[in-house]
Amino acid sequence: NTYTANENRYEKMQYRRCGKSGILLPLLSLGLWHNFGDKANQDNARSLLRAAFDKGITHFDLANNYGPPYGSAERNFGKIFAEDFKQYRDELIISTKAGWDMWPGPYGNFGSRKYLIASLDQSLKRMGLDYVDVFYHHRPDPDTPLEETMGALDQIVRQGKALYVGISQYSAKDTTRAAKILRAQGTPFLIHQPRYNMMDRWVENGLMNTLEHEGIGSIVFSPLEQGILTSKYLDGIPEDSRAATEGTYLDKSQITPKVVAQIQELNKMAEKRGQSLAQMAVAWLLKDSRVTSVLVGVSKVSQLEDNINALHNLEFSPEELKTIDRILGF
Ligand code: NDP
Repeated sequence: NTYTANENRYEKMQYRRCGKSGILLPLLSLGLWHNFGDKANQDNARSLLRAAFDKGITHFDLANNYGPPYGSAERNFGKIFAEDFKQYRDELIISTKAGWDMWPGPYGNFGSRKYLIASLDQSLKRMGLDYVDVFYHHRPDPDTPLEETMGALDQIVRQGKALYVGISQYSAKDTTRAAKILRAQGTPFLIHQPRYNMMDRWVENGLMNTLEHEGIGSIVFSPLEQGILTSKYLDGIPEDSRAATEGTYLDKSQITPKVVAQIQELNKMAEKRGQSLAQMAVAWLLKDSRVTSVLVGVSKVSQLEDNINALHNLEFSPEELKTIDRILGF
């Protein structure tokens, strides 16, 4: 069955300007880290992408190593893109990244010019795209000169293989250094992708101020702490959950009695606000206007709908914020 996007797709979603750029991003974006690899149900993967775009989610985030196996999320996305989304290419912001281990030997990892340029060429082939909208260096590389890595990002833009560049997981200090190099080169430095959620607040310790100062936007990953900040683990570990799945970065051992007590208390608070816990966790991030977009993962369309409904209530009273801090020990 052929796909025609919902005519009303831009009516409800809200968009924020990404730093001081010309790009607006939806308040929620969709990440393809999980649920798009070769083990994932491809009909479900297609439904997730369609449901997202139908709701005004114009941004899909990938990386060279998303799968498993590595590369398969891009390949599977490419198939669905060719069938469903080609006609909407100019309505989409598609990103990919390189920086983690991708292929054997010394040239398939970290931050060399050799690795970044070869990796993006592979990604474009897998996805069947001429260019990506955003190309990221996926993590800092302490051993490669930053000038080399940023020079590779610049070359990629000049080659027309990416329109904008970003960095992920860089500290505030390294972000300032990167911004200086990129500005001198004239490279469009759009965005930083850090980990941020109610339980992991490292970005509040300098990075957010740096981004604001530099005019760079942010898209925050693992906003639901991989599913912990939802109603999923309130009474045990469901079999189809990420924590119960082998080979993920969320282990059952992370769902401790202390965590369960915290999420039960947070859940009660969310109920009082008329929200699910997932919705409250998304809203909590969006209360800071420097967060351009919240990058969620979802395994089911119902989860996506749940998360999108966070946008109905983004306000917190000072008392509510204090209660969240107390529950989580901040
Ligand atoms: P989340 O914190 O949003 O966790 C997603 C998982 O939470 C889902 O797969 C699902 O798990 C569960 N979930 C989501 N919504 C709900 C809901 N409403 N109710 C119940 N459960 C829900 O984010 P991710 O950790 O997946 O990260 C999101 C994206 O960020 C990635 O896809 C990727 O694009 C990016 N990312 C970037 C990194 C980087 O280094 N730059 C690192 C990690 C991620 P379940 O399978 O259990 O149903």
